[in-house]
Amino acid sequence: MASNFSSTAVPTNGSGASINDIPKSWSFTSRLPADPLFPTPADSHKTPRDQIRPRQVRDALYTWVRPQPVARPQLLAVSPAAMRDLGIREGDEHTEDFVDTVAGNKIQGWDEEGSTGGYPWAQCYGGFQFGQWAGQLGDGRAISLFETTNPSSGVRYELQLKGAGLTPYSRFADGKAVLRSSIREFVVSEALNALGVPTTRALSLTLLPEVKVRRETIEPGAIVARFAQSWLRIGTFDLLRARGDRDLIRKLATYVAEDVFGGWENLPSRLENPDKAADSPVPGRNVSADAIEGPPESAENRFTRLFREIVRRNALTVAKWQAYGFMNGVLNTDNTSLFGLSMDYGPFAFMDNFDPAYTPNHDDYALRYSYRNQPSIIWWNLVRLGEALGELIGAASRVDDENFVKDGVKEEEADEIIKRAEKIITQIGEEYKAVFLGEYKKCMTARLGLKNFKDTDFDELFSEVLDSMEALELDFNLFFRRLSNAKLSELETEEARQEKAGVFFYQDVLTGKGGDEEGRKRVGEWLDKWQQRILQDWGDGQALSEEQDQERIRAMKKVNPSFIPRGWILDEVIKRVEKNGERDVLDRIMHMSLHPFEDGWAGRTFDGKEYTGDRDEETRWTGDVPRTGRAMQCSCSS
Ligand code: AMP
Ligand code: MG
Repeated sequence: MASNFSSTAVPTNGSGASINDIPKSWSFTSRLPADPLFPTPADSHKTPRDQIRPRQVRDALYTWVRPQPVARPQLLAVSPAAMRDLGIREGDEHTEDFVDTVAGNKIQGWDEEGSTGGYPWAQCYGGFQFGQWAGQLGDGRAISLFETTNPSSGVRYELQLKGAGLTPYSRFADGKAVLRSSIREFVVSEALNALGVPTTRALSLTLLPEVKVRRETIEPGAIVARFAQSWLRIGTFDLLRARGDRDLIRKLATYVAEDVFGGWENLPSRLENPDKAADSPVPGRNVSADAIEGPPESAENRFTRLFREIVRRNALTVAKWQAYGFMNGVLNTDNTSLFGLSMDYGPFAFMDNFDPAYTPNHDDYALRYSYRNQPSIIWWNLVRLGEALGELIGAASRVDDENFVKDGVKEEEADEIIKRAEKIITQIGEEYKAVFLGEYKKCMTARLGLKNFKDTDFDELFSEVLDSMEALELDFNLFFRRLSNAKLSELETEEARQEKAGVFFYQDVLTGKGGDEEGRKRVGEWLDKWQQRILQDWGDGQALSEEQDQERIRAMKKVNPSFIPRGWILDEVIKRVEKNGERDVLDRIMHMSLHPFEDGWAGRTFDGKEYTGDRDEETRWTGDVPRTGRAMQCSCSS
């Protein structure tokens, strides 16, 4: 199908292959059951697309369904980092095949002559939404194309198109995505990845000028090509549990362990002392049998270890959200990844002024998904997963007994199995807390420029600074960046510290100074405690040389971003793209998102290429959040 890009100017230098030639696989679909209405790709392909309609799909984890063809797709931007990670050659985005693949017009790997390749598919899952069971959900507008393994890294990703048309899982909706929310997902996926937060990724953003989407108004449609090592969610298990499909629960759990995590041997070993676990470099793996209050070894079977792997991954991810002030906004179980990825970006936000009760979700009246609730809500979701796996967990060493596999729990065993599962899940709750806390401390320790965590740091530094930020309405992320840049030589006297404290406040337009005297005094006192801890960690209690302090500054800047895609910046970009027809601004916000720790971007060389950029824009986007742009909220309409 025609696209805006000609296939002439393709640079052939650089590594990687074209999107046509990257290796492709269909492991998910080959190992798990397809919708019985369309048992093969050919059955789906010969069905007119408008006859593949929303309905209840049972005994299956997906439906073969191709994307809706679209007229004149316009590729607006790609993520160069995503191209690299997928092993796609730089410049391939200028080819017609690339554009048609990420727009859903070209089906890769499918050959009508009865190919053994693969075909696009949409996943079937359910979920608890705002605490209520919502029944079957599924990929209502996301269609996966193929898996691809990058030959250099060996990492396999599943590429999918969000906004690619109706599927059996679209319920009452239209299968489309609007440009504004697609811009948001495209940018934040890559930004979080660059910050080191596990997340699904985004390869490209495509505008569908002919697709009109009805929301509050009529809006242009768009597609984000996104990818992840797994798109499975807690909601995938929830649905099987709700339907009592114990065979498929076991099959899916086995698939997740063997295929997604690469084998049972990669899962955590016997439940170790949770405090120790949090400090181990690769949490939970290959930890020798430390003292343990956990269940006896025989009680902890491989499905328990699978559950623990998923729990631990999510604990690490939510700890990073808390440390970077990121909020998903809709942490339903269908948006909670089994792989521990941040995923499904709707009304997400980064924290501006520190406010633990803030939620970016305009419709979340109960503040269920507010910043402070994220760790407990993710645990709530994980308990739902524990319940879905409960029978397998509770069966302990009998999990492979023929009778149990075939008929499940006998009535006289039920109590014992339930009790055991409950006990194990409760115990894993402790492990969740320990892994969460360990990671949170590690991140905060690094963000504050310390080399080691001391027990007193939690109250004296972390809590104290967060309380001050909240009381004094300071910007959470700017605080850490500005702290990174503060030289110890500027903090030697009480007076100097109070003077320096001014940089953390919004600048007062009248006096040019931030904060009132009392506020600056409070921050000054904290700065004193902080610099003493820096001296302990970096100078053995002695003053630091200029060089040592520069080293500390560099270390802090590597973990404290100067750029994050905040709500107000995304809004500005959306407006400029939609209303003014700007395109380059997308490349610039992507570039800054991919290199978030720099002081400046324009005029510098990245990956051997000079980056032009826009200095004024960079200054605005890394400075104080404008008054009207703080703590914005979004609705779920996307
Ligand atoms: P979300 O709140 O975005 O995680 O979506 C919840 C469920 O609604 C998922 O099953 C989505 O696939 C589905 N959904 C959301 N928006 C649409 C849409 N425009 N068309 C079809 N399905 C949608
Ligand atoms: Mg979702």
